[in-house]
Amino acid sequence: MSQENQKPSPTAPANPQDNASPFLTEPLPQGTAQGQQQSLQAQTAQQSTAQNTQHAQNIAKYNLPRGAQTNNVGETTHFGYKTVNSEEKAQKVAEVFHSVAAKYDVMNDLMSFGIHRLWKRFAINMSGVRRGQQVLDIAGGTGDLAKVFSREVGPQGRVVLSDINESMLNVGRDRLLNAGCSNVDFVLANAETLEPFADNSFDLLTISFGLRNVTDKDAALEAMYRVLKPGGRLLILEFSKPIFEPFAKLYDLYSFTALPLMGKIVANDAESYKYLAESIRMHPDQNTLKGMMESAGFQNCDYHNLTGGIVAVHRGFKL
Ligand code: SAM
Repeated sequence: MSQENQKPSPTAPANPQDNASPFLTEPLPQGTAQGQQQSLQAQTAQQSTAQNTQHAQNIAKYNLPRGAQTNNVGETTHFGYKTVNSEEKAQKVAEVFHSVAAKYDVMNDLMSFGIHRLWKRFAINMSGVRRGQQVLDIAGGTGDLAKVFSREVGPQGRVVLSDINESMLNVGRDRLLNAGCSNVDFVLANAETLEPFADNSFDLLTISFGLRNVTDKDAALEAMYRVLKPGGRLLILEFSKPIFEPFAKLYDLYSFTALPLMGKIVANDAESYKYLAESIRMHPDQNTLKGMMESAGFQNCDYHNLTGGIVAVHRGFKL
């Protein structure tokens, strides 16, 4: 494991070559990037009581105990269609992504006919990212989003590409450093805790095709809420539930036959791509995920279906 993306201690800089990295030590300077912090702080104070009430109402409304309707974690959880002990899932997910890391980008293009690039572009357009902002891409893997955000935030801004998996993060780091992205830090972090990051640190959080792999999704959403600055937004790009039934059948046929076959031919790994198809089916649908975001405290949550609901982008704010 290289020095740069070892999981840092809370007092260590994210990147030893860059002592200026502010993410791991203390909250970033607030306000100047967005130019609206004063009013946001005032709003936050006024809204906190209303928000707590709303939060409690959402928990009751969606009745979301961990491990129940949300397909979230209990003593056992799902790994694709298999039921496994909750502790086992992270290990199995890690094996999948260690195995696919080297071929991940080429497989993405093949499996989606390149359409994943359009889905990501749509999410980036919804991000409202601006120069000077602080962005965290969670489960960012090989860095498709972080690469674009690096350009968008410019030299005064900062992007953190984080992932739990060293193999994926290494591919992302090599790729972004080769592309000259000098304003990006690379940090190993579990989405369930986001432990290396201080509260209220980021203007924008993204998680693209990552959440369905996380064992405790509620914990992850709570961690995301914690590290987001007031006024910031979260975007979740993830496979979801197709809204047109005949289309869903065709999509099933494609996922369960073509994907493992492509995985076998290109990456010599049919099992990982069978997991991909199964994990998509086990992921909460659009409205359930929206409810989970609201339960974690996010406000003004909405979602947009892409390609008939094969994928959805969920958006929520910390106000
Ligand atoms: N975001 C990239 C993209 O859109 O191309 C990569 C997505 S890839 C399908 C899923 C990523 O989620 C993998 O890199 C994997 O290591 C990461 N992941 C899985 N569980 C995680 C967790 N608990 N915390 C952080 N990352 C996780």
